[in-house]
Amino acid sequence: MKVIHAADAMQRLALQWRKSNQRVALVPTMGYLHAGHLSLVHEARRRVGPAGLVVLSIYVNPTQFAPHEDLSRYPRDFARDRQLCRKAGVDVIFAPDNEAMYPGKEQGQYSTFVVEEVLGRELEGGTRPTHFRGVTTVVAKLFNLVLPELAVFGAKDFQQSAILRRMVKDLNFPIEMVVAPTVREPDGLAMSSRNKYLSRSERRTALVLSYGMEVARRLLLRHPGGLPVQKVVDPVARIINSQPAARLDYLAFVDPLTLQPQKRVRPGVQMTLAVFVGKTRLIDNTRL
Ligand code: AMP
Repeated sequence: MKVIHAADAMQRLALQWRKSNQRVALVPTMGYLHAGHLSLVHEARRRVGPAGLVVLSIYVNPTQFAPHEDLSRYPRDFARDRQLCRKAGVDVIFAPDNEAMYPGKEQGQYSTFVVEEVLGRELEGGTRPTHFRGVTTVVAKLFNLVLPELAVFGAKDFQQSAILRRMVKDLNFPIEMVVAPTVREPDGLAMSSRNKYLSRSERRTALVLSYGMEVARRLLLRHPGGLPVQKVVDPVARIINSQPAARLDYLAFVDPLTLQPQKRVRPGVQMTLAVFVGKTRLIDNTRL
């Protein structure tokens, strides 16, 4: 397994691979890897085959964090990530630093960003208005540096994958977008690097996200024809906010492709929510 830090070295290698018709899959991450990330690596491997190349990028991208967010304390453990990648059969870790990704930014010499203008307005974009501009920019840059034929993302970040799919289509990236299912802890909590922030009691409280989705699912089972959104939002919000350490940020029922808010909760609707557990903001979603 190779580790590459320099952007030009990554791109040179990618161009060589392209010349020799190698199949290349990219798994973009911010590191502090867990089984959710590794499931994306396995999906990438399954798709490119044993002779293909799986590149996992590790980069905590500053442009997707607002000034008050957790950029500086975002968990990092490169030695451990490297071991996990080796075991999982990653061929190349691409781990650039800020100067490699945004050359000259500190001196005001970086000024190009990629912005998706519709799907990113609400939900995560409502609470984090500059977040997706950072995500689309960094992923477009990673696409240009690694030149993959496919890229694997997690369903855990539902809105992110919808926006990136749109970006790939709108900007004609010759890249297949693959979205792999959310990997959960045995008790239902979606795996996330941010779970590390949770104290023991917050970890228990964090189960309100998956429990809230379960409650919605049960309501829908009792009303197979669907029911008005408020009839699901109210009980789920009550359950979440009844936990002293939990505060609902948003809870929405949207069309899985257009992200348009739905009036009725019906089978096939995407339920998506964000909850503050203590100071940690967790997200989850499910297709009902
Ligand atoms: P992150 O390191 O949090 O930026 O995530 C990198 C990629 O892993 C994104 O495509 C995420 O959607 C995906 N991911 C994160 N958590 C999970 C999970 N529990 N299951 C599946 N994919 C995940």
